[in-house]
Amino acid sequence: MRRALPTRERRMIGAWCFLDHIGPVDFSGRDGMHVGAHPHIALQTFTWLIEGEILHRDSLGSDQLIRPGQVNLMTAGHGIVHTEDSPPGAGRLHAAQLWIALPAEAADCAPAFAHHPDLPRWTEGACTFTLLAGRHGPHQSPARLYSPLIGLDIHSTDASRLTLPLDPAFEYGILPLEGRATLAGEDFDGSAFACLDPGRDSIDLTLAPDTRLLLIGGEPFATPIQMAWNFVGHSREAIATAQRAWEAGDPRFGPVPGSTRRLTAPPLPWAGV
Ligand code: MN
Repeated sequence: MRRALPTRERRMIGAWCFLDHIGPVDFSGRDGMHVGAHPHIALQTFTWLIEGEILHRDSLGSDQLIRPGQVNLMTAGHGIVHTEDSPPGAGRLHAAQLWIALPAEAADCAPAFAHHPDLPRWTEGACTFTLLAGRHGPHQSPARLYSPLIGLDIHSTDASRLTLPLDPAFEYGILPLEGRATLAGEDFDGSAFACLDPGRDSIDLTLAPDTRLLLIGGEPFATPIQMAWNFVGHSREAIATAQRAWEAGDPRFGPVPGSTRRLTAPPLPWAGV
């Protein structure tokens, strides 16, 4: 697993505030991935599945298996609890797990969960594009977002060259999930996360055979956010209040049906809140 966001160099790309690249890993003969019940606030979790399966359950009663080519979008808002598990007999797993910070006016909204099995998908030459979030040309993702954002998966089966149109109002991040690519003349593989400042209207990409790129972008987020453990907030107080509610078993963070393992929050990283 590799964390591309946040890092010391880069905290956010638009409202995208967290990006883990999971796998590819082979769980054959092992127990797979199991993340016990944990809370979120003021963000959306965004799961893009490339290989394998993950079972999502949450405190709204959602019980959803996600399969390759699909997105799960969970809006935490005021508060939600979820678990993520490999189903029995898990084999390979390859996914991207992202968080989207909610703007202040939506941070306390009602929690929600949406499964998106059918996303806009098209091919150009040897490249298949899947629009995960936002708008690209005539295509629009069904994922309900609260900020101007894009998420785009680009997969090449053969060596490809393309010029990808960009929105000059957006900043972008490009993460190779498989293979190798050249971005605006620079070589990248899975060990690098390329960040582009706003102001570009396109980028030249060269993809090696069997390369997959994840492009995320958005308008620079207007307000600073705080992050601690699984909480995002527009103030440290908002996060401290949520953490106390989680520790107290407050009904703000309800049970996940069928789940018995509940994660413990580490101490808050700030004194005196
Ligand atoms: Mn989570």
